[in-house]
Order: sequence, then C-alpha cells, then structure tokens
Amino acid sequence: MKDTKLITIVIPVYNEAENIAAIVEEIIHIHLKYKYEILFVNDGSSDMQTYQFLQEVAQKYSFVRYISFVKNFGHQLALKAGLDMAKGDCVISMDGDLQHPPSLLPAMIQKWEEGYEIVITKRINYGKVGIFKKISSYLYYKTINTLSSIPLEYGESDFRLLDKKVVDVFKKLNEIDLFLRGLTRWVGFKTTEIAFNAENRIHGKSKYSFNKMLRLAVNGIISFSSKPLYFSIYAGFICSSSSILILIYTLISLFSGHVVPGWSSTLIIISFFSGIQLIIMGIFGLYLSRIFIQSKNRPLYIIGENTYSEPNEG
Ligand code: UDP
Ligand code: MG
Repeated sequence: MKDTKLITIVIPVYNEAENIAAIVEEIIHIHLKYKYEILFVNDGSSDMQTYQFLQEVAQKYSFVRYISFVKNFGHQLALKAGLDMAKGDCVISMDGDLQHPPSLLPAMIQKWEEGYEIVITKRINYGKVGIFKKISSYLYYKTINTLSSIPLEYGESDFRLLDKKVVDVFKKLNEIDLFLRGLTRWVGFKTTEIAFNAENRIHGKSKYSFNKMLRLAVNGIISFSSKPLYFSIYAGFICSSSSILILIYTLISLFSGHVVPGWSSTLIIISFFSGIQLIIMGIFGLYLSRIFIQSKNRPLYIIGENTYSEPNEG
C-alpha cells in the first residue's frame, strides 16, 4: 500500500533562476521510493528568468508544478502557500538554492516511515556563511529561547518534513507574521531531528537581506512571547527606584550645602528616562502593529498563476 503515497516537495524561490533546473535534477537522481511532486512557489521574483525556467522545467516534467505570487510576500508566506496547496501525504519544504541537500530526503522519509510526524533538520556546519550571520544567528537562538517557551535550537532551518496531519493544522493558521520554525515546535506532534551539512550556495546571493532577516527575527520573538512587554514593567520599576535614589542624593547635597551645578546631571537623567520611554513605546508599538495588521484580515498572499491545482487535477 505504501507506494500509493504521495510526497509534495515545496520549494520557495525568489530570483533563483540558475538553481531551478539543478535542484530538480538532483531530486530526480535521488530516486525516491514514493511518488512525488515538486511544487515551486515563485515569490514574486523580479527577474523574468526564474519564471521562464519554472515554465520550462514544468513543461519538461509533469511532476513539477509552480504557483506564482503577484509580488514578493517573503519566504515564510511562500512556504505557507506551498503547505496550503500541497496534496501530498507528507510535505517536505526546502530552499531553492541547493543549500538544503536533496540527498537528505531518504533519511527524512525513513523517519516519517518510522512514525514521526515532523522531521526537523539541523545544520551542523554552515558552509561558507559570513561570520556576522553565524554570530547573529547564534545570539538570536539564545535570545528566543530565553524569551519564549518554544524550544528552538541553533541551526534549525526551514528544511523539514511534515506529515499531512501537521500540514492540515498549518493550513488553518492565518497568522500574517509567520515564523514557521517556531510553529513547527508549537504544534506538538511526534517530532524528531536529523543533522545535515549545509552546502554552499552555488549560484546567486542570499535573498535574505539584513532587513528581511531582522524582520524574521523580530517576528519569531514577538509571535511567541509576550515577555518583552514585561520588560517595560521591569524597566519602569528600575527607573522609578533609581529616581528615588537620585532624589535622596539631591536632598543630601542640598542640605550639606553643595549647590548642585545642575544641567549635566539633569541632561543625563532626561536622556536616560526618555530613552527608556522610547524603548517601551517601541515594544508596545511592535505588538500593536501586529494586532493592527492582523485585524485587517487581508489575504496572506495573492497568487497570480497556478499550474498546481488546475480544475482537471485530482
Ligand atoms: N526566498 C523567498 N522569498 C524571499 C527571500 C528568499 O522565497 O523574499 C527563498 C529563496 O529563493 C531560497 C530560500 O527562500 O529558496 C532561502 O533564501 P536564502 O537562500 O536567500 O536564505 P539564506 O540561506 O541566506 O538564509
Ligand atoms: Mg540559502
């Protein structure tokens, strides 16, 4: 009965023209033992070639399909669209730049056969990744683990296998600020991890600009933890207690005859407190903007073209 199962491989691509054919060929070479399909999600690539190559490869192989966003909605939402559409008994998501080695697929599928519903992969080396990315990523995982109750480990990536049951839960989620790595831990289910060596990017540059990385990082914290809001209470408390100390100091100086010369200390205090206030307002603002955006209930993404679920398909 096993061979009737279908695996959907979801690959979000943003300006990955040179990598598309290569990744399909690599997956074919693996000779997966189940029937599979590859679903590319073209995340509003700005080069025409990505689109052309997708068309070509989809014409060549009937098991390759794609959906195309009308604009760039970001990697996480591209993954979400892939999950929303996927018909497979399990879904494997991987990057389109060959940094997630297709050679790991059999091992992931084996875990699925053993009964695991989520197979998470962890990078044990980073390939040629800049020192800045390494350090920021390390610090990030430390921070997110301190702040939220979702255990995330350094090196976790969006290369994972999800059983249909898990995918069905993900389909129901309607969060605009998706952080799938956290959600994968949050949903529960029977989970296992396997390690892999990240390959170097062969073609093109990383599509995660510093801005996109920062956004993802903030989303990961904000959507899984309200602790930063408590931070403002602590900060406020510390400030008010320290201002009492300053008051005492001022009174003592006054009575002991020292005339407080004044403005440098005043400036220090003002800038200190206004800094704290700005930070607190910023934290409030981050949460508030999330509520605001989500309350509009806009679609998470807009699909322009879809060769995946055509009406004549099952
Ligand atoms: N990607 C995407 N939309 C974006 C940015 C990236 O779909 O806005 C895709 C990209 O094409 C790749 C994957 O997400 O398949 C991971 O991106 P990248 O390799 O640039 O990230 P990095 O490996 O540097 O973290
Ligand atoms: Mg990459």
